[in-house]
Formats: sequence, structure tokens, C-alpha cells
Amino acid sequence: GFKAGIVGLPNVGKSTLFNALTETAAAQAANYPFCTIEPNVGEVAVPDPRLDQLAVLGKSAEIIPTRLTFVDIAGLVRGASKGEGLGNQFLANIREVDAIVHVVRCFEDGDVTHVEGKIDPTADIETIETELMLADMDSLEKRIEPLQKRIRGNDKEAKESLPLVQAALALLREGKPARLTERREEDEKLFQSLALMTAKPVLYVCNVDEGAAAEGNSLSAKVEERAKAEGAKSVVISAKIESEIAVLPNEERKEFLETLGLAEPGLNRMIRAGYDLLGLLTYFTVGPKEARAWTITKGMRAPQAAGVIHTDFEKGFIRAETIAYADYVKLGGESGARDAGKLRLEGKEYIVADGDVMHFRFAN
Ligand code: GDP
Repeated sequence: GFKAGIVGLPNVGKSTLFNALTETAAAQAANYPFCTIEPNVGEVAVPDPRLDQLAVLGKSAEIIPTRLTFVDIAGLVRGASKGEGLGNQFLANIREVDAIVHVVRCFEDGDVTHVEGKIDPTADIETIETELMLADMDSLEKRIEPLQKRIRGNDKEAKESLPLVQAALALLREGKPARLTERREEDEKLFQSLALMTAKPVLYVCNVDEGAAAEGNSLSAKVEERAKAEGAKSVVISAKIESEIAVLPNEERKEFLETLGLAEPGLNRMIRAGYDLLGLLTYFTVGPKEARAWTITKGMRAPQAAGVIHTDFEKGFIRAETIAYADYVKLGGESGARDAGKLRLEGKEYIVADGDVMHFRFAN
């Protein structure tokens, strides 16, 4: 599955947010199959109203949403790349995630100490980014000599790797993240294999006070501006509110959200933004037993998408009966869509679209 790592300076609200996420997941356990959670790893359902709609039309007995994993990565402080705090341990944790959720303190509270002595989200972001850049530089510098050695032995992959390593290193030395490294499409895999932390997509989560949860504040506005300039994403959340919502019974949630002027929990927005950030999309399978959402990456073809359900589906793929979500709903379900000629037979080359309702035909 796909993993997002939650990072940020101490005392910015990471644990509060992470606990809200896992409590929400636990509260959903009655409706959704619930997976085991390690202390710092939580799996949450990706909220998707389309799935509920499909389950109604398909008269499905069960609803199974798709899931996303969050990892709470503690211990990131100034000097971490040089072994301060939890040092290398947390760096190893970050290397393993697909995307980074960076929590930034955008609330004032005299009772909560700020490790850097003042509330300044831009400076906080730079502190964290500097540590990640230093760690990336360190790991790249260590690669150069072994690569040169392999090149002398005529290693083809090393020859392709070295220029990427050098380009990324040059950027980092200018104080820029490795994600800006110019590269050819065919080098993408090799580049990803470098597992650079500043090459991972980032979602900034602005943790604001209760009063600012709907609109944000001047601090979160600064973060948003920065995110835009970097091509990153940002969401405004109040971790405190989220932790209160998480423990409310379902019936009381809506009313509580309304009094705060919120359409839905901020966590839903955060989960969806994380999903987007990872370049993920959802297709559905609908039947009397269950309506289920499946996660794939953008650009995936039908056989690979089928392989997410079962490897046999990919190996023996024949075709995919496909109905666009909008057609499925407009025409009242599968038979209506079929009668209207909106059930398409798609082959091996078909690139699955977000919201497709699919039925795979395969041979064993
Ligand atoms: P972490 O070190 O980043 O995991 O931060 P915590 O989640 O442990 O939060 C640090 C402190 O800040 C705790 O006392 C929280 O109750 C408090 N806190 C978290 N979010 C908010 C918020 O939105 N507003 C206020 N006033 N306090 C918060």
C-alpha cells in the first residue's frame, strides 16, 4: 500500500493529529474492516461519497473503502542530519514513505513551548527542509566513489546513475530540493531508487487554532503561499478540533461540524489531499456482495489495475467491462448503463480513469 509520513518540529501537533487519525479509523471499525495498527503506523479509510452512492445502486451488502497508511515520524529536530534527536533512525523512516505530510505550527499558545522560541511557520519549514537536504547531500556524496568504481568496470546502470546523482547534488548545494532535478522520463525509476527525501512530494498541514479552522489565519496564508511557489499542496486543519471530532459518536459529528462552520472533518480533506499528492486514483467494483474501492496510480492500464485485486486477474486478463462513474449513477446502475450502450469493453491498452466501475474478465 501507499504510505505517507507525518513530520514536523516537536510540539507542532503531530501526535494530536495522528491520534485523531487512528481514533477516527477505530471509530469506523464498525462499518469498515479495520487493520492492526502499530504504535506509529495507522491505516485509514479514504473517504469517498461515490462509493456509498454505488453501494446503494448496486444493492451491495458491504462497503469496502480503499486505504492509506500514515506513519508518525517523531524526532526531527535541528541537527538531526548530524545525529541530533533520533537522528538517523527517523531518516530511515522517511526514506520508506511515498510522500511527506509536513505539519506546521500556525497556532499561538503561550502554554505550548515552541522549540525555536517563536511562531514562524516559514522558518520552521526551512529548518526541517534543511535537515532533509543535508541528509540527502550526505547520502549522495557517499554514492559517488562507488559509482565511479563501477563505471571503471563498465557498469551500465552506474553510468546512467552518476549524472543523476551529480545533478541532484548540484541542486542541493544551491539550497534547492532534489525533486527539481531535471531528468528524462526513462531515468525516473533510477532517480526514485536514490530514495531522496527532498524528492518526495510534500503536503503542508497548517495546524491552526479552533477559531481559524474554517478560514485559516495569517500564518497559514504564508504557508499556502510557499506551497504554491514550490508546487506543493497545503491544507488548513485544527488538530485540536480533529481530536475532539474523532471521539464523537457519528450522530453528533455533523452538528459539531456545523457549529464550527465546517462541511466535513479536516482529516477527510487531509487524507484526500494525501491521495492526490501521491498521484493515486480510485476505480470501483460493484456487486451484491460488496461495493469496493481500489487504489491505483495515474496512467495504469487495465491489466495492471486488475492485478491490484489479484495477480491472476492480471496474468489471465481478457477484457474489462467498464462504466464511467457518472454514467453508472445517471443510468441507475449496471443494467441501465448496459442498455444505454455505456458499458464499454476495454482491452489491455486501456488506461483506467478515476471513478471507473470495472468488471474484469480473465482466463485461468
Ligand atoms: P508533536 O510534538 O508535534 O507531536 O505535538 P503534540 O501533538 O504532542 O502537541 C504539542 C502540544 O500542543 C500539546 O499540548 C497539544 O495539546 C498542543 N496542541 C496541538 N494542536 C494544537 C492547536 O491546534 N491549538 C493549541 N492551542 N494547542 C495545540
